[in-house]
Amino acid sequence: MLKVNDINVFYGNIQALKGVSLEVNEGEVVTLIGANGAGKSTLLKTLSGLLKPKKGTIEYVGSSIAGKQAQSIVKAGISHVPEGRRVFANMTVEENLELGAYLRKDKDGIAKDLQRVFELFPRLLERRKQLSGTLSGGEQQMLAMGRAIMAKPKLLLLDEPSMGLAPLMVKTIFSIIREINKEGTTILLVEQNAHMALSVADRAYVIETGRIVLSGTAKELQETE
Ligand code: ADP
Ligand code: ADP
Repeated sequence: MLKVNDINVFYGNIQALKGVSLEVNEGEVVTLIGANGAGKSTLLKTLSGLLKPKKGTIEYVGSSIAGKQAQSIVKAGISHVPEGRRVFANMTVEENLELGAYLRKDKDGIAKDLQRVFELFPRLLERRKQLSGTLSGGEQQMLAMGRAIMAKPKLLLLDEPSMGLAPLMVKTIFSIIREINKEGTTILLVEQNAHMALSVADRAYVIETGRIVLSGTAKELQETE
């Protein structure tokens, strides 16, 4: 489904990705594990059209998306949940979710997916009329994920959904990630928390200072943990 081949990405003259290659097959949960500053967010930003690789190729369902506009990448079926759970604080939960569908025209589909998001995240249903800025950190993470789902992605890019959350909330979020995947959405999950990431993933890559240093099935990597 996604084939990243030998990409280099720079910020000015700082090289954040050094010959990164990875693949995601349809139906998988793939995780990219690495420490702070390793290049994880840079990879997701590149896949979602916010950064452009200087070298290498990115193929998504057979066509090149390297350097394409973010909006056309969303239309092609890739949704990105950036780190730091950005939600529009002065808008309600429901308004934030509706925004996620702004590129869609299928009203019935949108209504159905809104119901689906509320089934996945019952807490958002209880708080649908509440201003998003009043939600807890974990609820804001749920909302950011829900908003991405409203774009009807085939591939969901998740940037450190566990960051800063209490262990119980992390467990809840990860079991919902599994649920979303079971319903047919392919997932690329970026995490510092290797233990949690490997518990949910099929396959994993490890990144260190811009290079992939290890890859394998989650089971293989759990044994090296
Ligand atoms: P991670 O997501 O793994 O924490 P990042 O992809 O955010 O890592 O960062 C990779 C490297 O690129 C780091 O050295 C970081 O300091 C650098 N970097 C990230 N964003 C910028 C930026 N906007 N300008 C300059 N350097 C950046
Ligand atoms: P976002 O918050 O949208 O993910 P970043 O965190 O990459 O964006 O960057 C926020 C701002 O901080 C940008 O202006 C970026 O250029 C700058 N920045 C981020 N990381 C670094 C870094 N390691 N070195 C220099 N500037 C950075």
